[in-house]
Amino acid sequence: MSANQVRHVCGISGGKDSSALAIYLRDRVPEMEYFFCDTGAELPETYEYLNKLEVVLGKPIARLNADKGFDHWFEVYRGTLPSPQMRWCTKLVKIKPLEAWLGDDEAISYVAIRADEKNRKGYVSTKPNISAVFPFVEEEVDHEGVLRILDEAGVGLPAYYEWRTRSGCYFCFYQRKAEWVGLADRHPELFERAVAIEQKVLKDGGASGDVSYQGQAMQGRDYTWSNGETLSELLDRREEILKKHAEAMARAAKSRRNLPLIEVLSGALDEDDDSDACVVCAL
Ligand code: SF4
Repeated sequence: MSANQVRHVCGISGGKDSSALAIYLRDRVPEMEYFFCDTGAELPETYEYLNKLEVVLGKPIARLNADKGFDHWFEVYRGTLPSPQMRWCTKLVKIKPLEAWLGDDEAISYVAIRADEKNRKGYVSTKPNISAVFPFVEEEVDHEGVLRILDEAGVGLPAYYEWRTRSGCYFCFYQRKAEWVGLADRHPELFERAVAIEQKVLKDGGASGDVSYQGQAMQGRDYTWSNGETLSELLDRREEILKKHAEAMARAAKSRRNLPLIEVLSGALDEDDDSDACVVCAL
C-alpha cells in the first residue's frame, strides 16, 4: 500500500449488524479490509460464522489478537472482573489491537449502527487518522434491512441467536440471566471456566488495593459476573429463570404478531435486563 493511500476498514464482531454491513459493502467498497478483534474468549459459534462470512465476502477477515489476552488482564485487575462500570476489557482486548493494526495510516472505519438506532454510539476512535462513517444510518438500513441482507446472502444469523442475542466473550457481563443458563446448557465447559474465574476473583478479592483503573484506585471487593449472585447461585435458580424467560417469550410473541423469532427472544431477554451491550463487541 502506498504511503498516502487511505485504508477502508470494516470491523465484524460476529453479530448480525456488522456482518450485514460487511456484506452490504462487499461490492460497494472493493478495497475494504475486514477485521475481527479476537479476545480469545469468543463463542465457537462466532468462529464458525466468521468462516461462513469469509466465503461470502470472498476475502479473509483479519483476526486481531491482543498481545496480552484476558488471562494476563485478570491478573493485573485481580479482585475485579470487568463490568459496565469498569469496562477495561473492551479497550485492552478490542480497541488497542485495532489501533495497533492501523498504526498511523489514514483510515475510514465503517460502523454498523442501524438507521433505527441512530442515537446509539458506535466505536469512534479518538485517533485523528481514523474517521468513522455510518452507511446504514445514511442509507436508511434498519433492523429488517439487516435481516434481509443476511438472508439474501444465504448466511442467516449466527447459531448463538437461538439462545443469546449478543456476540462477544462467553463470559461477557452484559449477558442476561437466561443467557447464562443457555451458556451452561450449550457450552458447559465454558460456563465452568467462567465459574472458575469468578471463584478466583472472589477468593483473591481482598488484595487489589494497589490496582487502578482510569486513575481511580480500586479496593478489593467481591464481584460476580451476573448482578447480585454468583454463577453457581444463578444456576441453582435455573428453573425459576427459565420459567420467567418462557413467560417473557410468550408475552413478546403476543405483543406483536408475526414477529421474527430473534425479536421475540430479544424482547424477552430485555425484560430480564435492558442494559445496552457494548457496541464495540456486539454490533
Ligand atoms: S464482549 Fe463483554 S467481556 Fe468481552 S470485551 Fe466486550 S464487553 Fe468485555
